[in-house]
Amino acid sequence: MDTKKKTGEQWRRELTPEQYRILREKGTERAFTGTYYDTKDQGVYRCAACGTPLFTSDEKYDSGSGWPSFYDAVDKGNITLHEDSSGGMSRVEISCATCGGHLGHVFEDGPRDKTGLRYCVNSASLSLDTGMDPAEAKK
Ligand SMILES: [Zn+2]
Repeated sequence: MDTKKKTGEQWRRELTPEQYRILREKGTERAFTGTYYDTKDQGVYRCAACGTPLFTSDEKYDSGSGWPSFYDAVDKGNITLHEDSSGGMSRVEISCATCGGHLGHVFEDGPRDKTGLRYCVNSASLSLDTGMDPAEAKK
């Protein structure tokens, strides 16, 4: 089914309360509390709501921010960017292009020898698939 048409009630049944708060209500988990901020396992990070491959362990790096950080996405088409001026800050929000789930924000203080970008993502928005080869996701 078209995941963009799912109702809040449907998502509430499928997601944990923490995932719902972040993915559907644009919440943010506390720094250094998420499942993946310090994870170095190989694999592909999928959207926790719909399974779309979003990031891989190849582009993950330790930004020291307390959230999983990536300098690039699997495919730019899998992620939607939009201006977010909530809380008096001008930021660029990133969400899953497939289901519209909130992922986090992208900043321009990433590794300068790479893309210069830092995709700062909530662990609760991600599900690490260790059975999928990062190279496979990028085809
Ligand atoms: Zn999704």
